[in-house]
Amino acid sequence: MRLRHIPGSENELDAAPEVIKHAYLKKGKWSAAVFGNNQPLHIEIGMGKGQFLRSLAPLHPEINYVGIDRYSSVLLKAVERMEREEKENGTDFDNLRLLCMDARSLTDVFSPGEVDGIYLNFSDPWPKKRHAHRRLTSDAYLALYDQILSAGAFLEFKTDDRNLFDYSLERAEASPAFEITAATFDLHQDAVLNRGNVPTEYEEKFSSMDHPICKMILRKIL
Ligand code: SAH
Repeated sequence: MRLRHIPGSENELDAAPEVIKHAYLKKGKWSAAVFGNNQPLHIEIGMGKGQFLRSLAPLHPEINYVGIDRYSSVLLKAVERMEREEKENGTDFDNLRLLCMDARSLTDVFSPGEVDGIYLNFSDPWPKKRHAHRRLTSDAYLALYDQILSAGAFLEFKTDDRNLFDYSLERAEASPAFEITAATFDLHQDAVLNRGNVPTEYEEKFSSMDHPICKMILRKIL
């Protein structure tokens, strides 16, 4: 995703109630301190403008969602769209909050076992081998996810990038922390895995260009 720096986006984010500030202070108490309940916590890492969570969260009021992106300019777009939908459609986003953060810092803001599910959708492919460590499905990131996920928690990953997907399957297979519970190279043709599928912005864009969408579901081994 190519990004322009939008001057002032940090200030506007500071004023937005949907955006969690000083997230490290919530560590270990997200559901109680942020959402005021003890519901399961699911996060999306690299949510972009947030279409996926804006669709998913209202369907699951029994789950708390946190959308994470490292760019404030992207997060600002997500905030604007949330506020517009709240105003125009009366959508209730009580169970959705946003966080401007790099995935590298996950263990600073979530305590061990605090997260019950992770979504990675259309993560940056970093095609060069020397950048492989930056891919969000590299061994180092899988190890970070293992630290914050609860036993039996899920990790779902969608992409149209076959090279990134093959790499991710390989790393998942090699990981002692996760088992692969399902995988497909063409999600939209897979009657079982596609049931109830919530498309992301990138998913709509790439499938309209006839790219098949790959998906894998991992489960954290107890
Ligand atoms: N999930 C969205 C957007 C995909 S683009 C969709 O499917 O439509 C990938 C997004 O991941 C970008 O917004 C980028 O800023 C974010 N991202 C990439 N690396 C990240 C990291 N290390 N930590 C947090 N966000 C990251």
